[in-house]
Amino acid sequence: KRAEVTAEAHGIDPKLVDERAINVVSTLQAAGFEAYIVGGAVRDLLVGLRPKDFDVATNATPEQVKGLFRRAFIIGRRFRIVHVVYGRGREHEVIEVSTFRAHMDNAAAEQVAGNERTSKSELANMKHAVDSTGRVLRDNVWGPQDEDAARRDFTINAMYYDPKSQIVVDYHGGIKDSKNRVIRMIGDPATRYREDPVRIIRAVRFAAKLGALGFKIEPKTAAPLVHSQKLLADVPQSRLFDEMLKLLQTGHAIATIEQLKALGMATGIYPLLDVVVERAEQPFVRAALQDTDRRVGEGKPVAPSFLLACVLWADVREGWAKRQAQRQPSFSALQDAIEDVFNSRIGDVSGRGKLAGDMRETWLMQPRFEKRTGSTPYSLIDQPRFRAAFDFMRLRADTGEIDEALAEWWQEFSVGDDNQRQDLLEQAR
Ligand code: ATP
Ligand code: MG
Repeated sequence: KRAEVTAEAHGIDPKLVDERAINVVSTLQAAGFEAYIVGGAVRDLLVGLRPKDFDVATNATPEQVKGLFRRAFIIGRRFRIVHVVYGRGREHEVIEVSTFRAHMDNAAAEQVAGNERTSKSELANMKHAVDSTGRVLRDNVWGPQDEDAARRDFTINAMYYDPKSQIVVDYHGGIKDSKNRVIRMIGDPATRYREDPVRIIRAVRFAAKLGALGFKIEPKTAAPLVHSQKLLADVPQSRLFDEMLKLLQTGHAIATIEQLKALGMATGIYPLLDVVVERAEQPFVRAALQDTDRRVGEGKPVAPSFLLACVLWADVREGWAKRQAQRQPSFSALQDAIEDVFNSRIGDVSGRGKLAGDMRETWLMQPRFEKRTGSTPYSLIDQPRFRAAFDFMRLRADTGEIDEALAEWWQEFSVGDDNQRQDLLEQAR
């Protein structure tokens, strides 16, 4: 089954391969280990995209990997991997190195699934632990490369590239599938969704990301998607939240929403995602989604707090207006409306302090844009979150919620010198 595909046949452009990833691979190889660039990076290289990050797979253990690099950190409980870090600060880059893992065969999964009396200690001693629905709970047993390939999700995500020999190692027909633009699950799709329901969301993500290149989910891989969706109920909320953000923040938010609708999964993946899909046609939310896709496309950073603040703004406005109609003072009405929205829409993941804090600030600063007198504008532009709040206000103006002239005024005020600002304040009077 193992195929070794040469540069001539796969056509990967070596210039798209990251220097640091090459360095990690060659350091491991020089120490006598097998090492390859793996997964999504190989997939992207094959279709001519520059990968956004590079993962390396090796037969060295995490401890052995750590020992070979100056700045390397073993992270993760469920999947122990090594982060090899290059550079500092904003420019730093992380190459993720994982050790080849053994594949859990379906027989083992079925056995545990069928035996409710498997004790905790028995589970702990098993090579792989699965819960009563077949979900894989532990997956940290080292194995040979072919098993490492088999436990990956899609054929196009399960290839290994050696930058030195330029050979791609392919066990599951990934090269052929990527040429034919097919997203195909390795093994039996329904079983693989049961092992890890997050693969349902990943199928949507890759269909959205690669759709523009002509990729489609292969029919047998697509068939169990809708029916398997209910398995997501067993996945921790925090993991679903992270997967939702990946759907919305990797530059293909609009395409993702179209895929979700086309696949019959417009609802049911995650409550907050339901809201996004439901509101995707509203001008303000649409503009926010397009803006996010554009920024990612231009390599600019995006904050989840901004997009989510846009998506939930309608609720905040509604609650704010209602409370004001009941004669609550404006600012405290806004504060309470925001709390209501966090309680009803964000729920369990509100533990994400920074995200919630940034959303709150963006919203709370909105009424302050209306006050263009005295020192208020000066203190507003000095706020650390001014830029996000301004961008938010700009979108409100772009979509007709507030006066375009207000956004223009703040634009000029924020870039103006002292004299210009004085003039602007005079004008606003
Ligand atoms: P992206 O370009 O969005 O990062 P990716 O394919 O690199 O896509 P990652 O989440 O970075 O996705 O995962 C790296 C690789 O690990 C995948 O290509 C795949 O081989 C494997 N993998 C990740 N998640 C799963 C999963 N839930 N089930 C099986 N294999 C997985
Ligand atoms: Mg990746």
